[in-house]
Amino acid sequence: MKITFLGTGAAEGIPKFGCECEHCRIAREKDGKNVRQRTALLVEAAGHRILIDTPPEISIQLNKSNVFNLSAVFLTHEHFDHIGGLVEFEYWRYPIHIFAGIELLPKLRLTPRMQKNALLSPFLSNSSVYFGGLQIIPFRVMHHVPCYGFAFVEGEKWAIYLSDSSFQLSSFHFHLIRQADIAIFNTPTFDERDNHMSVRDVIKLVRDGSVKRAVLTHINHRNYIHEVLEKKVAPYGIVVAYDGMEIELG
Ligand SMILES: [Zn+2]
Ligand SMILES: [Zn+2]
Ligand SMILES: [Zn+2]
Repeated sequence: MKITFLGTGAAEGIPKFGCECEHCRIAREKDGKNVRQRTALLVEAAGHRILIDTPPEISIQLNKSNVFNLSAVFLTHEHFDHIGGLVEFEYWRYPIHIFAGIELLPKLRLTPRMQKNALLSPFLSNSSVYFGGLQIIPFRVMHHVPCYGFAFVEGEKWAIYLSDSSFQLSSFHFHLIRQADIAIFNTPTFDERDNHMSVRDVIKLVRDGSVKRAVLTHINHRNYIHEVLEKKVAPYGIVVAYDGMEIELG
């Protein structure tokens, strides 16, 4: 299983337009790992390629990573930073299979051509969707709108993506996090905040022994710059994702 972090920025991305903060200034001046487009993941396993979320920069991200075909798109929730680029698939040359929660499907804005080319399918929390040897398990997480995370299972290998989950986790979430070889957390800020997990929350999970390998993404400009954040979490074995980062499992 291979996971590519197509974008790793939170709501506004970094640099945030119109923002002159230190983090955004450094991102503009130095380029590199401090530039973060909005969050999307590409999961490749069992001969399939699954896109998680369609941020506003999705066409740029798929071009950069040389992605020319997709088995399906899975959407986590209705927030603009996660689905704002869905209409880009107006120009996709194949039918596009879009999976989302039943709350989100009726809200999706599709162009007339997409209405013909998109196969919209609801998924159910805790019910698997199979793509050959790749099993995808959507599950609800706590956020201020209906939101889903996903477990990806190929053979013995498990990856889990918590999406925009808050730190209110159920015992089922803990089971998945413990089970996973890699757990990916959206942590816009370093300190605790409502509606989202923070870097401190993930450090707590690692200290409790609940996570084998933690990766942070969906980073906000109010968080530390990449180099500083990396140093702060390295002692806990936590990895900070950057745009284009790839992780191989198995
Ligand atoms: Zn978000
Ligand atoms: Zn800023
Ligand atoms: Zn959100």
